[in-house]
Amino acid sequence: MRTADKLQEQETRFAKMESDINAIKQALFQSLQEPKSWAQVVRKPSTKLDPHEASHTSPPPPKRQHIRAELRRERAKHQITLTAANASEEAKAQLAAATHEEITNRCQNAINAANGEALPPLRGVQKLKSNDIRITCESSEELDKLKQVNWNTAYDGLTLHKPKFGVVLHDVPLQFVPLDALSTRDTSKPIMKRIEEQNSDDDLAIAQIRPLRRNFKPIEATKSSSIVIFFYSAEVADRVIRKGLYLNHRLFPAIRYTPQFKVTQCYKCRGFGHHAVRCRRKEACGRCSGEHSTGTCTETTDKCIGCGGNHVAWHPECPRWQEEKRRIEELSQNSSGLFQ
Ligand SMILES: [Zn+2]
Ligand SMILES: [Zn+2]
Ligand SMILES: [Zn+2]
Repeated sequence: MRTADKLQEQETRFAKMESDINAIKQALFQSLQEPKSWAQVVRKPSTKLDPHEASHTSPPPPKRQHIRAELRRERAKHQITLTAANASEEAKAQLAAATHEEITNRCQNAINAANGEALPPLRGVQKLKSNDIRITCESSEELDKLKQVNWNTAYDGLTLHKPKFGVVLHDVPLQFVPLDALSTRDTSKPIMKRIEEQNSDDDLAIAQIRPLRRNFKPIEATKSSSIVIFFYSAEVADRVIRKGLYLNHRLFPAIRYTPQFKVTQCYKCRGFGHHAVRCRRKEACGRCSGEHSTGTCTETTDKCIGCGGNHVAWHPECPRWQEEKRRIEELSQNSSGLFQ
């Protein structure tokens, strides 16, 4: 009889183990099925029961990102970008249809005309989105030569793209900088000039000034707002970040303008890190992941293209969105707050 008791006891233990395993399986299954629980999963400290936690939430090792960013900065030192943004429609169409060889030849002719010789010699060019052209050269001397070229002679309206470096000033009284004056270049010019004069810095040339939030409509009670001031050089912008900027004899702290540290989702393909105007991927519906625009969707159930969960692609609790947010937070934490 004692053997029978033992068997009984073992059987009970097995049954208990089986039910435990089922409970674990159920929990795992639910965490896969319910998109909402993802956010909870993400917020929770890690538990052994969640094998997805490791794969979905840990950002890629920061080292690799650092190296990539460093490489990009290095490469940029020997590169110029020519923009077709102000080119004539005809020139834009020409550029769109042109082969790399044709563009290289035309650019080389413009270089020869400016320097009286084929210096630097172009091996080729990169054709970027929106028909911009990137030229990479061997040295900073060559780069200086390229900056003197009149690119207009290559394609009508083609110009050298000059990067701008923005700083943000918060809480600026509207009486100092009226926002409606910032809407056109002509009306913002006197403001830019006044700021340049009020600061003793000789090189302080302001390229542009605009509200931080483009569609900001101040109501009557609004007394101040945030503005972005752009400079032509990283050096000047960094100096302003270090020292601040005077407006009407009041010193305002300035911080680096970093639009790259905001989650950007493309309206066309729903991917991250680029805008629809520059997107070359296939269109994807933000509701059902189908190959049609979100506005024309007739599906009744949502299926996220990023993670497959049943929510829209822009759902802030989507694990893919959360992953992108963490990646960007990490980048911004590693940023010095200066341009150089
Ligand atoms: Zn896209
Ligand atoms: Zn759809
Ligand atoms: Zn999702």
